[in-house]
Parts: sequence; structure tokens; C-alpha cells
Amino acid sequence: CGIVGYVGSQSALEVVMAGLKRLEYRGYDSAGVAVLADGGLAAAKKAGKLVNLEKELGARPLPTGPTGIGHTRWATHGGPTDANAHPHLDNAGRVAVVHNGIIENFAVLRAELAERGHELSSETDTEVVAHLLAEEFSGTADLAEAMRLVCRRLEGAFTLVAVHADEPDVVVGARRNSPLVVGIGEGEAFLASDVAAFIAHTRSAVELGQDQVVELRRDGVTVTGFDGRPAEVRSYHVDWDASA
Ligand code: GLU
Repeated sequence: CGIVGYVGSQSALEVVMAGLKRLEYRGYDSAGVAVLADGGLAAAKKAGKLVNLEKELGARPLPTGPTGIGHTRWATHGGPTDANAHPHLDNAGRVAVVHNGIIENFAVLRAELAERGHELSSETDTEVVAHLLAEEFSGTADLAEAMRLVCRRLEGAFTLVAVHADEPDVVVGARRNSPLVVGIGEGEAFLASDVAAFIAHTRSAVELGQDQVVELRRDGVTVTGFDGRPAEVRSYHVDWDASA
């Protein structure tokens, strides 16, 4: 229900948690974060309010790193439990994904993944995306390309945001029938379901079009269609009262 992604020179965890707080008004039943640090990926997630996740992070701190994603969930497939909270990881724990919306054909994809030996650990429609991204990444070593390949196989409405431990300076987002906005800062970039999440950091935004994938790096963003064709990046100024 709320999504935040960050790459830059600040602590991704702090930026993402602050962003999730700004999205609290949307309502949610669980929350989670993932950060890339020290060549690996670390994640924490908890059912309930953001304060539950904060307590978890207090008890078991995540390493500090400059790349991260976060999510507040409004459960549609699988109850509001820790296991069903996002992010969802692949079996190797190298890729993490958060999702708003519904993957309509998840049952077919799940069965195919199980046949190929993947072990799924949640009841969500979302988890298939983590496993599919891991498979495609092993062939492409390019998370944006892996995302395009996966999105072409998905039906439904989705905003997806993912990170991979082998591409520690990259956050990738995709959208179909669900909102996703990019924020461009000085040596940093943001992704969110709502500009409210990053308005404290930058007023320069890019709205993603339908069926587009964005690759975020500290020095800029690249947007393509799901088909890989480059898309025009048009930024606009967010004219909005930050205190609202
Ligand atoms: N369908 C996904 C789930 O139930 C995402 C829900 C959401 O948009 O928060 O986990």
C-alpha cells in the first residue's frame, strides 16, 4: 500500500523509514525494509504498525548501507503475518521485492516455480516475483532487464520495486495500473508510491508511464518500456506544501 526506494549517500534505512511514516495515512497492516550492505542483503519485516518494525530494528539492527527499499502492506493474498509482510526474498536471499497491487496469474507462476525447485515461504501473490527475478538475473546480471522480462509474464495491477545484492548501487521499479513516482536529488534518487515519501529531500520528480521500468542510480535514472525501448524522462517540479 506504500512503497519507498532509495539510493544515495544517506543511510537508506533512515530515508526509507521516514518515507514510510509519511505514507502511514494510506493505512496498512504490516511493514518491512531491505538494505544492501557489505555485499549482501538484509531485511526485516513485521505485522502491525510501523512501531512494531521499529522495535524489531531496535532489537536486531540492520547494517547501514546506501541502497534500500521499504513497504507498508494492505493484505490481499495471505493474512497480515510477519511471513507475508514484504519485502519478499528469493531462496538465496540475494534479491528483495516489494509490491502494491495484485498479480492475477500468481498461482500458475507459483506452481511452475515449485516444479523448478523453488521453495515459497509465504501465501502472497508477490513472492513469485522475487523468485522469478532471481532466475532472470542469473541469466542477465542486470536487474532492470530481469524486471522487464518478469513484468512481461505478469498479469494484474502492480507497482514493484526491487534490489539485488549483486547490483548494490541500483534500485529498480516497475508499474502497471498502479502509481510509482521517481524523485531526483543531488547524488541520490527516490522511488515512492506517493511524492509525500520524498518531498522532504527533493521537489524534482518523474512520473512513470504505464508499463515502464525505471533503473535508479545515484547519478540518474533510466526509463524503458517493458519491451526494453527507451522512454523519455520528463521531470516536473512538485508544487506541494511539505507541511500538508
Ligand atoms: N497483493 C500483495 C499482498 O497481499 C500486495 C498488497 C499491497 O498492495 O499492499 O501481499
